[in-house]
Amino acid sequence: MADSKHNNNRCSFCGRLEDEVGILITGMNAYICDICANQAYMIAEEAMEGIKRNVNPKKLNLKKLPKPLEIKEFLDQYVIGQDDAKRFLSVSVYNHYKRLLQKDGGDDVEIEKSNIIMVGSTGTGKTLLARTIAKLLHVPFTIVDATVLTEAGYVGEDIESILTRLLQVADYNVPEAEQGIVFIDEIDKIARKGDNPSITRDVSGEGVQQGLLKLLEGSVVNVPPQGGRKHPDQKMIPVNTKNILFICGGAFDGIEKKIAQRLNTHVVGYGAVRNTAVIDKNNMMQYIAPQDLKSFGLIPEIIGRLPVLTYLNPLDRNALRSILTEPKNSIIKQYIKLFEMDKVKLAFEDNVFEYIVDKAVEYKLGARGLRSIVETIMMDAMFEIPSEHKENFVVTLEYAKHQLEKANIAKLQTA
Ligand code: ADP
Repeated sequence: MADSKHNNNRCSFCGRLEDEVGILITGMNAYICDICANQAYMIAEEAMEGIKRNVNPKKLNLKKLPKPLEIKEFLDQYVIGQDDAKRFLSVSVYNHYKRLLQKDGGDDVEIEKSNIIMVGSTGTGKTLLARTIAKLLHVPFTIVDATVLTEAGYVGEDIESILTRLLQVADYNVPEAEQGIVFIDEIDKIARKGDNPSITRDVSGEGVQQGLLKLLEGSVVNVPPQGGRKHPDQKMIPVNTKNILFICGGAFDGIEKKIAQRLNTHVVGYGAVRNTAVIDKNNMMQYIAPQDLKSFGLIPEIIGRLPVLTYLNPLDRNALRSILTEPKNSIIKQYIKLFEMDKVKLAFEDNVFEYIVDKAVEYKLGARGLRSIVETIMMDAMFEIPSEHKENFVVTLEYAKHQLEKANIAKLQTA
């Protein structure tokens, strides 16, 4: 065994002699050389990372899971109106988490995944609803914009990058990300452009829809940890999308026409009189059905993977007025808080709110515009008041009008 008379100590891992290595560390009954020690460190590091990634996610408990009614009540605190969408969301989210609690293989009745699609004009609260649900459930949540997605191999982001964001918010804890919620915004932008799919490549349309299918139905997807485009020597993280809840949202501009067309063709015949009597032409969105999404350009397979279809109502004056002051973190409450931090009591004359709503309606700014209008009215006050040591500040109608006229409200239209 001994190769050298004066020193026959060898590394117990690679067998090299002490003279052949930089340093040989002595243990109880063994030795390790610097090369093997280094390699061992790297192996341990990698294994630990794997363990870290696979720590058990927080255990869900059905008893603790909020019931649909409680979910809706929670949503009511933050989102005005949209009762139908809230009910649909509450039920499907509740069922989704029930599904997660179902033991694997223990039962013949497998509960299917209920991904959701919400249709409604921009700024009616789709994102807000999804965000609020995630806040309640304490699960990783991310918003992705479908417009940046392209088919693999084209400029833009690969579909798998949707999951990169989810991994990032879950701190790369894979099991936790695997129970998260992904909100895919602007899903209508990946609708097939024309009726004939085969004439030219539709890079950001049907191809992306096909790619999405894999994610929605539940499969193991290799996700680039840093996002962007895949490259060959990047290490991928496998993520199972089986338990990820996908909520899609889109404005589907012009879909009302498709709904009307469908309803018109249906009302021909014996039922015509009865059916036409109940149609509310001012809000066609409430009659949306899966076939309208198909006429708009979503492929049937995608529609099939989004079994829960709901809609959001356009926001009327009353809704806008409520949004301004009623939600738990309403715009006005936020400004009051901001001033409170400077020890200033901020108040608004009641007719200021009416005026703000009038302007939002007049300039078609919607709910998003409310914030820009309030911001414009309050800008000077926010600049001056912290240095003025005032205790109170009341926004009068006159003041609001003056501030807004000075700022030229037309500018806000592009906001
Ligand atoms: P969407 O996703 O439908 O385009 P958002 O949810 O992003 O619209 O809404 C934009 C902003 O408008 C929200 O941040 C919120 O302040 C406000 N908003 C819109 N709809 C509502 C609503 N129904 N209740 C409360 N606030 C709303």
